[in-house]
Amino acid sequence: MSPPELARPWKTFKGDILHCILMVTAERVAEILEGYDDLVIATVCSHSSLQIFHGARAEGFKTLGIAIKERPRLYDAFPAARPDSFLVVDSYDDLPRRAAELVEMNAVTVPHGSFVEYMGSEAFSQFEVPTFGNRRVIEWEADREKQRIWILSAGVDMPAKIERPDKIDRPVFVKYHGAKGGRGSFIAKNYDEFLEHIDKSLPYAIQEYVIGTRYYIHYFYSPLEVDGYTLSKGHLELLGVDRRDESNIDEMYKLGAQESLKKLGIYPTFIVTGNIPTVLRESLLPTALDMGERVVEKSIELFGGMIGPFCLETIVTDQLDFKVFEVSTRIVAGTNLYISGSPYSELLEPGMSTGRRIAREIRVAREKGRLLEVLT
Ligand code: AMP
Repeated sequence: MSPPELARPWKTFKGDILHCILMVTAERVAEILEGYDDLVIATVCSHSSLQIFHGARAEGFKTLGIAIKERPRLYDAFPAARPDSFLVVDSYDDLPRRAAELVEMNAVTVPHGSFVEYMGSEAFSQFEVPTFGNRRVIEWEADREKQRIWILSAGVDMPAKIERPDKIDRPVFVKYHGAKGGRGSFIAKNYDEFLEHIDKSLPYAIQEYVIGTRYYIHYFYSPLEVDGYTLSKGHLELLGVDRRDESNIDEMYKLGAQESLKKLGIYPTFIVTGNIPTVLRESLLPTALDMGERVVEKSIELFGGMIGPFCLETIVTDQLDFKVFEVSTRIVAGTNLYISGSPYSELLEPGMSTGRRIAREIRVAREKGRLLEVLT
């Protein structure tokens, strides 16, 4: 089996200037791995790091915490998830310069939302440390237009896109490209409300506002497995479902209706503050699996496959239709609920978290001599 296609540069715009991003090549990753006498699982101390370290340890790996500015005390409170060692860097911008040290320590990095968001997708693409997953996915995730092409061409439904703000004819949700955790997103019911809130210096997308219930579905795609819920190559797992707690939208109703609160200058915001466990109505599970399958199959076709954990962020309408409003292409923080397994992962292997599943994949790939299929 061939490794994911890697070396092709991807193109993006910075202002009006076409910008070419050269990713770390498969050859370079192979060369680095040849110099390793062990594998150490490393990640930035944030987001889902407790789970990643805990899972890596359960699979027999040494772990390394990348800390910004100082060694965090957090892990002293949770010793079963404390990394074996730390690399303290000045800032996320400092990380590329520290790549050689990480290689020296035999590090394999596990990306999570904060890692990629704060380091920046461009710097992360070029970061010369072997990384779990296919970094080419970033090109398709970071640009909301490309993400839309990917999901819709996979045959998975999304909220309708409103092409121009002056064409807003129903409640819409406006989001900025790459923005994570709901920061900056807003609801507008007409063009005037759009103008009131928009920051036109940032690229944005306008979606119809879908009314329904939200489910964040955690999947894992393994290109190595041959049993279970098999795809054209590898297999798909459904490891859990969560719902996000968002401040202040989730609680503002206690003060009154949104419209009357606006008169007091209080507007809804969508900042994620926590996660709630949930399960899907069982009759929705076949569709949930089918959507995951389609999105992975399309990713194989478009860029060599989205390897490892990902999440479809969905709204289910009262017609029981799923609308996917976003895909997160790596471990999501909602999986932190299931460090000791979820109602779904329990049926695959008791006690399996997404963090541990990542470490398992790396371990199996190493045993089979197939590391280059899961690391880029
Ligand atoms: P996002 O910025 O895409 O992460 O979305 C932040 C939050 O906004 C989500 O968790 C949902 O609560 C909500 N949301 C996003 N897109 C839509 C949509 N099209 N319709 C309704 N709510 C949405």
